Amino acid sequence: MRKTKLSTAVEKMLDEATQPLSVPSLLQALGERGLSPNKTTLYRMLDRFCAVGQTRKIVLSDGVAHYEKASAPHGHFVCTACDAIECLPSFDPQVLLGQRGPDAQPMVVTGAQVSVQGVCAQCL
Ligand SMILES: [Zn+2]
Ligand SMILES: [Zn+2]
Repeated sequence: MRKTKLSTAVEKMLDEATQPLSVPSLLQALGERGLSPNKTTLYRMLDRFCAVGQTRKIVLSDGVAHYEKASAPHGHFVCTACDAIECLPSFDPQVLLGQRGPDAQPMVVTGAQVSVQGVCAQCL
């Protein structure tokens, strides 16, 4: 993938983020750095990052796509009051499949998403 000023900036933001980022929040942060890509360019770039496995796209209960650096499977907590998202500790999807009982048919894990809804400390 050809590196551009934009792709380097987006990679860095995803690397440093402590929570998954939506496209509007990426656009805003890029704007603060003097970059103003159009939305389509940014979506295409994020799709490419996902295709090569460096970024994970997650769609949570609000239906808005968020992006984060690909890491071990983990769940997300979503605040129903302010939409804040927090990464939860990682879990092993294989362990969940193993809990289905001895007669369960075999399955192959290709991805995992868990989201927990609630109210964050800021909103309590
Ligand atoms: Zn909240
Ligand atoms: Zn996460």
